[in-house]
Amino acid sequence: MKSQGRTLGIGLLFLISNQGLVLAGDLEKAPPGFSHQGGKAVFADFSHVGLSLRFDALNGKAQARAVIEFEVGEEGMPLFDMIPDAQTVILDGNTLDPASVTSVKDPHKQSTLRLLGVNVEPQRRHTLEMTYDLSSQVSFSQGTVSAGFFMSDLSDREYFEQFAPTNYEYDQYSQSIGVEITGTDKRHEIFANGQVEELAFNKWTVNFPAYYTSSSFYFHLVKEGRFVVSRSSYAGLEGEIPLTVYSISQSNVANGMQRLKRYMAELEGTYGAFAHPSFTAYITDGGGGMEYCGATVTSLSALGHETTHSWFARGVMPANGNAGWIDEAIASWRDNNYPRGSGPSRTLRMLGGFSPYKRYTTMDAYGYGADLISDFDGWVARSNDAGMKGVLRDLFAQFKRQTITVPMFQSHMERALGQSLQAFFDKYIYGRSSSAPVSSASPGWDVNWSRHPRPFTKEELKKII
Ligand SMILES: [Zn+2]
Repeated sequence: MKSQGRTLGIGLLFLISNQGLVLAGDLEKAPPGFSHQGGKAVFADFSHVGLSLRFDALNGKAQARAVIEFEVGEEGMPLFDMIPDAQTVILDGNTLDPASVTSVKDPHKQSTLRLLGVNVEPQRRHTLEMTYDLSSQVSFSQGTVSAGFFMSDLSDREYFEQFAPTNYEYDQYSQSIGVEITGTDKRHEIFANGQVEELAFNKWTVNFPAYYTSSSFYFHLVKEGRFVVSRSSYAGLEGEIPLTVYSISQSNVANGMQRLKRYMAELEGTYGAFAHPSFTAYITDGGGGMEYCGATVTSLSALGHETTHSWFARGVMPANGNAGWIDEAIASWRDNNYPRGSGPSRTLRMLGGFSPYKRYTTMDAYGYGADLISDFDGWVARSNDAGMKGVLRDLFAQFKRQTITVPMFQSHMERALGQSLQAFFDKYIYGRSSSAPVSSASPGWDVNWSRHPRPFTKEELKKII
């Protein structure tokens, strides 16, 4: 269960599903559990992860220990994800064979997950403790450590599961990371979208807010002085927002900070007060681009797009891969300078009707998706001059720091337009049209990548760590 419910005073939300199961909080938005080797694999609801990272600069080793507090909604074997293999596993104080954590495919073969092959009781707090080696994700060189936990939302298994146990994006939970570097006298520093506290030389804790999901966390550990860093603040609508901009070049940092303040003013003016504790931007020399909650890795040219994602993508957050198109469509509509459309008449594509086990966003979100938002704008403008900007401002006010699904977005649009949009969503978003076939061109065929730099590949990301 997410603690955000408590913060907002909503309390626990219990829902009775078709099967008569009682699901709490985040699990309402989880993909369905499934049968596995005579048992049932069930999605879990993390409430907290305590992660400890120890970097041995002398021997080039990174060792991690994770303690996960979680619940399940029904009895079964818990599903989660973590790409590194567990070396030790302890469940509720009982040591298990590390081989009890296996890799499984979902029933639609969309992704691979981790399964703990032990049945656990529902509606009870469990603690899973695992240790694992993280050395391959870290660069060591002459007494320095570089660890950039960078992500992508355009391919499978590229969220925080690369570095630590986490879940599909429906799950909001708090996380603390303890960091210690040994075997070097070189001072290091951490850029993160959490609260960083230095405890001793090369020793920190980083605490992240309870509304974060697997695609939210930003963590970058480097030798102090590796980057040019500028720190400032922006007088936001709800208080001072600390800003950090860093890069290998002074000009990127100066330009980045200047532009960031301009985008803050623009986006707060259009959509409402910034939703996160701070903003951190790592400006690359070109290419790349990925958003986090109040953070980004980006070229200067895409900084406006990526900053928009702190409102849509990491402000109002997708609960799953099917909802990922919404924020890319909105951010691209903004990049295009908010054109007002006159109604859909185009080749049909599928934006949000994929398997619930697919985690990432279709590349059709940028072109086809942005065109749909501009059509919605024309539609809303017939009765309300504010058009889609006003509808999105309301969406942000209602769902910031929460996750949304496509049906939730559909309901929001139906309230704004005062009519059912089921037939519209079936045709233009879910790809369930009976009259015209959905185009089979590769996703993203219509994206102008010169306006929207594609994300870095894993190999390219290694170079900027
Ligand atoms: Zn984007």
